[in-house]
Amino acid sequence: MKPRRSLYLAGDAMDARELAREFRARQRAGLHGELVDRDRLQRHFGIDRDGAILSRGSASANPVQLTAGLLRRVQQCGARIYASANVQHVSASRGGVWLEVENDRAVLANHVVFCTGYELLHDIPKPSHEIISTWAVAGDLLGAPPRWLRNTVVWEAADPYLYLRLHGNQLIAGGRDERHPTRYSARDTLAPKRARIADDVHTLLPTLDFKTTHVWAGAFGNSPTALPIIDRVPGIPRGWFVAALGGNGITYSMIAAGIIRRAVRGERDPNARLFRLQ
Ligand SMILES: Cc1cc2nc3c(=O)[nH]c(=O)nc-3n(C[C@H](O)[C@H](O)[C@H](O)COP(=O)(O)OP(=O)(O)OC[C@H]3O[C@@H](n4cnc5c(N)ncnc54)[C@H](O)[C@@H]3O)c2cc1C
Repeated sequence: MKPRRSLYLAGDAMDARELAREFRARQRAGLHGELVDRDRLQRHFGIDRDGAILSRGSASANPVQLTAGLLRRVQQCGARIYASANVQHVSASRGGVWLEVENDRAVLANHVVFCTGYELLHDIPKPSHEIISTWAVAGDLLGAPPRWLRNTVVWEAADPYLYLRLHGNQLIAGGRDERHPTRYSARDTLAPKRARIADDVHTLLPTLDFKTTHVWAGAFGNSPTALPIIDRVPGIPRGWFVAALGGNGITYSMIAAGIIRRAVRGERDPNARLFRLQ
């Protein structure tokens, strides 16, 4: 995991004035950064936009390696890992939770935390939960990238938006989201989305030369407030679920870990009410 700066660019979802408001709100919340005006953005970053927020505290990682590392760590702490085990039914039992797994197997647990990503459990009401489709590309750099890009991730306050970062000599960029729950699985979207995202990168950073080598698509699960849902499973006092992490899984999973750990110990968390199922 490598520390990175983050450059959040004004776009059609937030112009420079709104970005300045966002910046002040962040300052009040103790999140530091600096406002970059149009002139400096052009001179220092070669980007033609009204403004941006430049902040520290971001990071870049290979998500597969990161996950494998975390799993190794929890194993060292005594966890046992079972895969694949499709949980088909969940019910409360005295002092615990029954999980019925396929092939007539079952697990009895004191406490259960369901981290099913963008899929919600059957019994969870999902009136406002939305699944959208998103696309991403990776490509080889042809020539040296701008120096600042080596330690900075970039994203835009725009709809559709673009995000990009470097991973060694590869560029990873994504966006072009569509508010459709299954569009990501249509293979014929891959080539046009690949071309659109590559165009978006060229428009933003005309001097960055690269050749796309990979394109892929996936789903995002969002809530209307963009906050995740961290709550007890209705009817199962010792069952918890963590869902709708949007594009902020790293931050929200840490918040969820804190809230649930405290609840299991019988402690109160003043932030827990922010993430309850409505
Ligand atoms: C394109 C894209 C870019 C992203 N970028 C970022 C980023 O820059 N920063 C960031 O912090 N986050 C980002 N995210 C979000 C992040 O990837 C997710 O929040 C995170 O992966 C969620 O992890 P998880 O372990 O909670 O769920 P997942 O990784 O989704 O795992 C859930 C697991 O539960 C399993 N499961 C579901 N139902 C059952 C069942 N009934 N029985 C057994 N198993 C079941 C699924 O098979 C799956 O393996 C991004 C997501 C996408 C799609």
